[in-house]
Amino acid sequence: MKTLNFSHNDKMPIIGLGTWKSKPGEVYKAVLTALKTGYRHIDCAPIYGNEKEVGNAIRDAIKAGVLTRKELWVTSKLWNDAHRKDDVIPALRKTLSDLQLDYLDLFLVHWPVALQPGVMFPKGSDDFLSLSEVPVAETWQGMEAAVDQGLVRHIGVSNFKLERVKHLVENSRIKPEMNQVELHPFLPQDELLKGCKELGLHLTAYSPLGSKDRSSAIKKDDEPLLLEHPAVKKVAEKRDCTPGQVLISWAVHRGTAVIPKSTNAGRIAENLNAAKVELSVEDIQFIAQIGPEYRFVDGSFWAMEGSPYTLSDLWG
Ligand code: NDP
Repeated sequence: MKTLNFSHNDKMPIIGLGTWKSKPGEVYKAVLTALKTGYRHIDCAPIYGNEKEVGNAIRDAIKAGVLTRKELWVTSKLWNDAHRKDDVIPALRKTLSDLQLDYLDLFLVHWPVALQPGVMFPKGSDDFLSLSEVPVAETWQGMEAAVDQGLVRHIGVSNFKLERVKHLVENSRIKPEMNQVELHPFLPQDELLKGCKELGLHLTAYSPLGSKDRSSAIKKDDEPLLLEHPAVKKVAEKRDCTPGQVLISWAVHRGTAVIPKSTNAGRIAENLNAAKVELSVEDIQFIAQIGPEYRFVDGSFWAMEGSPYTLSDLWG
């Protein structure tokens, strides 16, 4: 398995398991299956509502001798209601307690959006805090304190546009090492990838398969189907693999980490095996141009009427 290099000689396995929309009752089995199948990187977040079960699976895998804690890379994220400096460590401690871990390998600011303490999703304008009330710089001091206290090995961000990453890099004591963003052939974000690399950050590709979940309340009817795109299918046929593997391999070939979500044992194994799929430069360029440009997680829930956030400010 390829890895990405972090400070202190730490290495993040390039393919990880996503856990968003993995239902309680399913995620324990999914994570345990993934670890037994060979995954060594799990992507979590408190907002996914399933960190306790993820923690049980990690605990049981370690107990059963499947792996050691040191062999595993665990990422989690700071939710938007804990952006005040003094709220960061308590939120992190809750995640660590749920995951039954002493430390995280990577801790990310989930969104550059601040909510009032205790608000998971905003219902009205009063639920927001603006970035002038709680600047990212303040939140970042809490993130740095987490490193100082040995609770996390690396810190980073998620859903940050390049300008915001640059500002953070220039104004931080401990530099961000990761920006986790939506990346796939409908949203290749070449400039962001290049810019973050130049600034010393890796990217993780989220929703690499198009985030399709027919049971999801936030699914839109006009979403294009990435996994069923003829160009993806054509490369899959040529390389004798599945469309999902083409998309994961495409992310790997671009030097990003990639965290496909699945709770299905067959697809969990299939996705990890994408590490063995070789794509040519022509395949990669062919897939990169398929369009249409589309963002599955468009952030519109942060840009409701009366919110201090707009989509253009979010994405640039
Ligand atoms: P993905 O793009 O990973 O797609 C997941 C969907 O694809 C599920 O319905 C899954 O179904 C299905 N699937 C999985 N493998 C295959 C396959 N080989 N062939 C066909 N279908 C497949 O979506 P996500 O949006 O979940 O993104 C992945 C992860 O990224 C998240 O789980 C989360 O950890 C992270 N993320 C982070 C965000 C952030 O703001 N930082 C935002 C969004 C995601 P099934 O389970 O039945 O296999």
